[in-house]
Amino acid sequence: MKRLFFALWPSDETRKQLNSFNQSIAQNGLRKLKADNLHITLLFLGNTCAITEILLRKKADSIRVQPFVLTLDQLEFWRKAKVLCLTTAQYDPQLGLLVDALNQLAEQCAMHIEERAYKPHITLARKAQKLIDIKVLPIQWQADSFCLIESCSTAEGVHYQVLQSWSFAG
Ligand code: ATP
Ligand code: MG
Repeated sequence: MKRLFFALWPSDETRKQLNSFNQSIAQNGLRKLKADNLHITLLFLGNTCAITEILLRKKADSIRVQPFVLTLDQLEFWRKAKVLCLTTAQYDPQLGLLVDALNQLAEQCAMHIEERAYKPHITLARKAQKLIDIKVLPIQWQADSFCLIESCSTAEGVHYQVLQSWSFAG
């Protein structure tokens, strides 16, 4: 079994911007994500067998959405999860279409998916205690593709492996 999820994966440039913002914040006990791990989850699949993975990949080939830009412009503290996240006030309908399509695809593969409303976010840091009062200079994330990612746990913490990427252009 592999622990899988669909995600938006940042370009090197966007990753740098996200990481430099992350490095500019500080709070006692804060555990920041490694730059390499920054991402936006589209749909978490969890433990997935090889046959289902093949089916998911095949079905994902037929997803069609237009490229879009995400403007990450607000920092949020999620009390229950104790995380600091970068989020967006408003997002392009294409992102909603993409997430809907992925949910349908998972349903067709008989996967059990949680029903919480989707909220795009980048987790920047864990073990947060409160919000940090800092001005966020909006970061523009040009989304041109989505990816299937394997979450691998290692002695040095979780590592994300991009298994496949689908371009929006088709
Ligand atoms: P770790 O769990 O080892 O601390 P992690 O949370 O970064 O690290 P995963 O648990 O594999 O790694 O999660 C991968 C991605 O999927 C993360 O963005 C995480 O927030 C998201 N995720 C994990 N579990 C769920 C879930 N039950 N529902 C929605 N998203 C989830
Ligand atoms: Mg987790």
